[in-house]
Amino acid sequence: MADEKKLRVVVIGAGMSGILAAIRLRDEGIDDVTVYEKADRVGGTWRENTYPGLTCDVQSHAYTYSFELNPDWSSQYPDGAEIYGYFERTAQKYGVIEMIRFGEEITKLAFVDGRWEIETKKGTKDTADVVIAATGVLHHPSTPDIPGLASFEGASFHSARWDHSVPLDGARVGVIGTGSTGVQIVAALADRSAVVKQFQRTAQWVRKGVNDPYTPEQRAAFREDPNLILAIRNSPESEANVRLWSQAISDASSPEMHMMEGYIAQNLEQNVADPVLREKLRPNYRAGCKRIVISPNYYEQVQKPSVEIVTDAIDRVEPKGVRTADGTLHELDVLVLATGFHADMFLRPMTVTGRNGVNVEAVWADRPIAYMGLSIPDFPNLFMLNGPTAPVGNFSLIDVAERQMDYLMGLIDMLRTGKAREISADAKAMADYESARAEAASKTIFASGCRSWYLGADGAPSIWPWTYDHFIEEMKTPKLDAFDVVEG
Ligand code: NAP
Repeated sequence: MADEKKLRVVVIGAGMSGILAAIRLRDEGIDDVTVYEKADRVGGTWRENTYPGLTCDVQSHAYTYSFELNPDWSSQYPDGAEIYGYFERTAQKYGVIEMIRFGEEITKLAFVDGRWEIETKKGTKDTADVVIAATGVLHHPSTPDIPGLASFEGASFHSARWDHSVPLDGARVGVIGTGSTGVQIVAALADRSAVVKQFQRTAQWVRKGVNDPYTPEQRAAFREDPNLILAIRNSPESEANVRLWSQAISDASSPEMHMMEGYIAQNLEQNVADPVLREKLRPNYRAGCKRIVISPNYYEQVQKPSVEIVTDAIDRVEPKGVRTADGTLHELDVLVLATGFHADMFLRPMTVTGRNGVNVEAVWADRPIAYMGLSIPDFPNLFMLNGPTAPVGNFSLIDVAERQMDYLMGLIDMLRTGKAREISADAKAMADYESARAEAASKTIFASGCRSWYLGADGAPSIWPWTYDHFIEEMKTPKLDAFDVVEG
């Protein structure tokens, strides 16, 4: 169209949502797009995490772009390398690789005279009409502040910085942490390492996930008829599960939540035979408060002779191993820190300055906020995928990002067609959203009394508190009165 404005868009990050953004923008005819990626490959979390046992806890056919179904998934929960391969192939197939500037970490964004000025660590300068931050959720490793950690003589690394030169077979390995990551690592090492000591500060609720491989015949049938894949993605059973789970978590006192807790607790009762070990593994908070861990074999693996669950608190790390509060020295060759991530980063550590020089750190002094998880007042034409308060906890992040991208295309189209020059969340709409969100969050299972990465510094849940249906409804189309629109 002749009177359309030719927009230049910069996408930050070439992980799952950055690849998606690039593909969608180009599909919509926006071809002046640059993706800045600080690493030398695509893949985000699937590039960074390579630990043994890595998989996704969302089933493969659901953890797939809607426009790039994958008949070749080897199983319901394939390993991380296979998932990484899917994203890399998709980026290649859709020409995203050519749009990426690798090895370029953006350090500064400033909104000046209606455009975003961009600077990278290498000193590259750029400008854009629109910036889409696809910077990931759990990306910045959190390293524990344990006395003596640096004195350890063996190999020690965070789970997201795995050192593959370190031998594991026959080794004595300590794993600090019992989140999804620690559970997957321990289950994988139980048959390989001589000793696996898992240091458990808090027990986890673990739901059993069945990981059936797809047979060659099934994969051939998926290739032949993609409707078979759609039938898995959109099966009434999986939709009912998402609906039930999302209703349950949004209301901690609901019968749905009590039913889910009963169901999840069965795994522990039925699959851990030793009553002493069972009590060690029994959480003292409600299921769903932390993110539920899904594993096909964790309980089976921790009952193997190589594995010990250590519940005494860690006192310090010494050159030879971990000393617990009861005085025991747990001698180790390898110490893995499966201690999670800083979940409040989003645009950080970039310096981001919006309209009138307002710094995002001033807006985010209490907690990162964004209207619908994607727009901040006075930061026009800067949008986030899987940003603060998005439903990142329990659903397929691909589905979340696709719906957000649909929504954003509605706003970007207004910029392109000249209906608007600047769009950002309206300050009152932001405040109303945040107060309704905080009120709803207080009723969720996340607020029922536990420590988790869902909580902000003030201890209140900082994620989407409503049902997934509510999110789907909101993402259908932007409500323009919630935006501060400067006309073109
Ligand atoms: P996490 O859930 O935040 O777990 C961190 C673990 O480290 C917790 O057990 C925590 O104990 C422990 N910890 C932290 N600091 C400690 C300290 N100083 N001393 C002792 N223990 C300490 O991190 P994560 O396991 O990496 O998982 C994060 C999220 O990533 C998951 O919830 C999930 O959303 C995602 N993830 C997904 C998959 C998947 O299958 N899709 C796989 C891995 C990760 P406390 O519980 O006591 O705080």
